[in-house]
Amino acid sequence: MIDLRSDTVTRPSPEMRQAMFDAPVGDDVYGEDPTVNALELLAADVTGKEAALFVSSGTQSNLLALLSHCQRGDEFIAGQDAHAYRFEGGGAAVLGGIQPQPLPFNAAGELDLAQVESTIKPDDFHFARTRLLCLENTQAGKVLSLTYLEAAAAVARKHGLGIHLDGARAFNASVSLSINIKDICDHFDSVSICLSKGLGAPVGSILVASAELIGRARRMRKMLGGGMRQAGSLAAAGIYALNHNVERLADDHAHASLLANNLNQMPGFSLKEAPQTNMVLLDLEQHRFSRLKTWLADNGVVTSGQRWVCHRDISLEDINRVSELCRTFSQHD
Ligand SMILES: *Cc1c(COP(=O)(O)O)cnc(C)c1O
Repeated sequence: MIDLRSDTVTRPSPEMRQAMFDAPVGDDVYGEDPTVNALELLAADVTGKEAALFVSSGTQSNLLALLSHCQRGDEFIAGQDAHAYRFEGGGAAVLGGIQPQPLPFNAAGELDLAQVESTIKPDDFHFARTRLLCLENTQAGKVLSLTYLEAAAAVARKHGLGIHLDGARAFNASVSLSINIKDICDHFDSVSICLSKGLGAPVGSILVASAELIGRARRMRKMLGGGMRQAGSLAAAGIYALNHNVERLADDHAHASLLANNLNQMPGFSLKEAPQTNMVLLDLEQHRFSRLKTWLADNGVVTSGQRWVCHRDISLEDINRVSELCRTFSQHD
């Protein structure tokens, strides 16, 4: 089976499973799990931040960041289609009394900074207090430029806002730009990174920030029931992922480009845009896409929508196979 639904479907490799098996563990709520501690030190070091927190998911990580930056009655600015606004059950509002102020992403996956500035509410008791700017990188597979990040950070600073990055796939961005992840994280007060997507760990995300913010997030994590005990077995997968699975994201990007190039040469196939990282975004008429989806499923290729995601468990042979199936489809449909 070839699963193109998401990079969340990756399964731990034998080497990763061995690292999980071998990991020394302790009670992390007492701060005594050596492997969790090692992961948090490594994550802080790799991202150039003071401290890190190992959490159960990207959703929890974003929520902890929002709760740590904002108080009840505060507001965060985020993309209309941002995961932290749209796909996380309204957690900030439900659990934190924090109001979102969504704005549209432009075609580059950015928030227009002039629009951000004009959306920041004046200091007036009629309004929620705008406290935080939240960006996403990669956004739908698109990479934000360092120039943009610098400008966004300057806007946040000018208006006294915190700035958070939902960097679920921040390593895809750094690998795509051939830069150090620190060069991205430098522009943010806090960054959330998924270990469970392209990096191939079974579970977990890390939140990185100042020691002070991570202290607050740690308290919130306990409150949300996210204090895990012998979590070192899971953290070991995260350490393995950071040490072994970052550079290889370039393979996923190459696979996405190859698949996109192949599809572009077939009659009746159109793409929304050229892939910048690991996602191929199709642009087919819905009925035609449904027929394609069924044809692929009948041949062992699983897709959900018109976003096809390359990852560790998709090989070059798999890309060739999907290309062949699409070619056959395009000749007969
Ligand atoms: C997947 C994802 C998350 C959330 O991660 P989970 O571990 O699934 O909760 C957050 N933001 C973005 C952009 C994501 O793609």
